Amino acid sequence: MTVVSRRALLGGLGLGGLAAAAGGWSPINPARAQAAGTVNLYTARHYDTDEAIYANFTRATGIRVNRIEADADKLIERMRAEGANSPADIFIAVDAGRIWRAHEAGLLQPLRSAVLEAAVPANLREPAGHWFGLSKRVRVIAYDKARVAPADIATYASLADPKWKGKLLVRSSTHVYNQSLVGALIAHNGEAATEAWAKGVVANLARPPRGGDTDQLRGIAAGEGEIALVNHYYYANLVASAKPEDQALIAKVGIVFPEQGANMRGVHANIAGAGIARHSPNRANAVRFLEYLASAEAQSIFAEGNNEYPVVQTARLSPVLSRFGEFREDTIDAAVFARNNEAALKLTDRAGWR
Ligand code: FE
Repeated sequence: MTVVSRRALLGGLGLGGLAAAAGGWSPINPARAQAAGTVNLYTARHYDTDEAIYANFTRATGIRVNRIEADADKLIERMRAEGANSPADIFIAVDAGRIWRAHEAGLLQPLRSAVLEAAVPANLREPAGHWFGLSKRVRVIAYDKARVAPADIATYASLADPKWKGKLLVRSSTHVYNQSLVGALIAHNGEAATEAWAKGVVANLARPPRGGDTDQLRGIAAGEGEIALVNHYYYANLVASAKPEDQALIAKVGIVFPEQGANMRGVHANIAGAGIARHSPNRANAVRFLEYLASAEAQSIFAEGNNEYPVVQTARLSPVLSRFGEFREDTIDAAVFARNNEAALKLTDRAGWR
């Protein structure tokens, strides 16, 4: 268990730097691009800021970045169907469960890289280098500021307290964010205790699970429930939003990073991450791209695009996250809760969490 400490680096790479990088695409020398070749991404990410990462990488290396963006399960299916003919060099997913699934399906290859091993904490990468975490997303508890005392929702266990009967909002258990949290709880507390907890969660639901995490936040603002389980960036993105309705929501809704007490293990952290495709036709370029993603520069842009936490400690935090301050995060191996995915799905099913 470690306390995450980081500094918001407000130096040369401020927002202005990002904007300049995104807007200032220098033309690629075609001859050089051809010589340096390409790298093909199969990615479940879809953030505008990623364009700046690709442009910076191409500018620095001459390597062109091609990409196919789709849901991770569709990308996995596609790679499976393409087999040895797959043009995919790198697979990028936004949760450990999907990356694990791609690894399990034999779609990724190992990579020993001193750069990546130094940059990415050991609990956020596969030991043989089949995948590497590139940003972190933590599962927090949102609450109605007018009705709920933050001290009453300081742990995940508190969500099952009967005092919240009819007041809890959460998306479906079929979503991988919940499966990853439940997978971590299984690893920490065992199946029996976690199932009892899941039953308590179901007993407290304000309505049948529906929608995404933002819908749960809107549910609190609309008075449909008082507490909700959400990934931190859905809240952070509303904080950063200029829309009056989003600011109105933020005025009513707060978040708590749970499990921060002296003997507690910290808030659950999932990852977005990437691995090199088994049949990568441009492997050397793929390695350079992954290593670039672990640089402080790319880490800041990669994480900031969705208000996520960089995995590299020296990378700049987004302005909103700087304001959230420091917290302790659960350092359980991402591979452990990803591996528990199936067990988590069955457990939540038994508990009646739809
Ligand atoms: Fe998400």
